[in-house]
Amino acid sequence: MTGAFLLMPGESASSFVLRLANFLTVKPDKFLRSALGDPRNLAWAIHRSDKLQFLCDASGLPSEHLAFAFAQRSPGPPNERFVLQFRISEHHLDQTTRRVSPTVLARDLEASIPPYHRILWSVRDLRRDPETGSPLISACDHCGATLTWQNCVDPACCGRCGRQLWRARSPEDPMTRFDQFVRDLFHPDATVRSELRSSFVPPLGGWAEGDLIDLLYSLQRVQHLLSSSPKSAVTIEPAVIEAGSSIKQAMDLPIRSAALATQSTAVTVAAAARMAALRSAPPPVAEFLIQLLMSRS
Ligand SMILES: [Zn+2]
Repeated sequence: MTGAFLLMPGESASSFVLRLANFLTVKPDKFLRSALGDPRNLAWAIHRSDKLQFLCDASGLPSEHLAFAFAQRSPGPPNERFVLQFRISEHHLDQTTRRVSPTVLARDLEASIPPYHRILWSVRDLRRDPETGSPLISACDHCGATLTWQNCVDPACCGRCGRQLWRARSPEDPMTRFDQFVRDLFHPDATVRSELRSSFVPPLGGWAEGDLIDLLYSLQRVQHLLSSSPKSAVTIEPAVIEAGSSIKQAMDLPIRSAALATQSTAVTVAAAARMAALRSAPPPVAEFLIQLLMSRS
């Protein structure tokens, strides 16, 4: 690939297109307009595999190589996407903010490669870089602005104040078990991934990454059916999916708390609400949980 502009390992199309634009021309906006239709459309670039050939021609890269920069459609359900070797749904991707790991950007510089955005950082529930475990940030530690793709002129800098994000401090939030779970699910080392999956109750070990995340969210939704606690982050422990019995227990929680209520209809109402919640889950999750609920063991 002599003369080709290189795609970095795991790089997102958003990052690649921006770096390519900066490399090819002193007027990157003009290039981005012809590449994406709108120079401010970088966030959406990971979904624009229809632009693959245009970008191959502009960069000199073969399409089978550049395809990995995109969330690729699968032969499966319409919303299913391949991101690298992982299988998720469109709703698992979030590019409304631009999330980066300062630690990883600093490593890029140390390795004398251009700091760049990884496509996995677009996975909404990943709060850590899968390889290093370092936190992903979505706000500039200098000016406080949310990092977005709209004002981004360099994948490694704040679009508002120009802060070099490899220098940014990350908040010192502890890694929750859910964070660890999602990190290991997308870990670059296959042995880490298979060790995690070997602990799941069959058939979950073979499930797509996106379905496993949806499963935890569905169980959390069921748990919180009758409570007013905030539902913004998953609070259910990922270890619950290691056994059918613990999954059943999690699904029984609203019924057990309804049994303590004074109204005689509370249990019936809770059971109906639970079934409605399960039925509204994505198809593989709904099918698995309802079947488990109906099973005797
Ligand atoms: Zn800033």
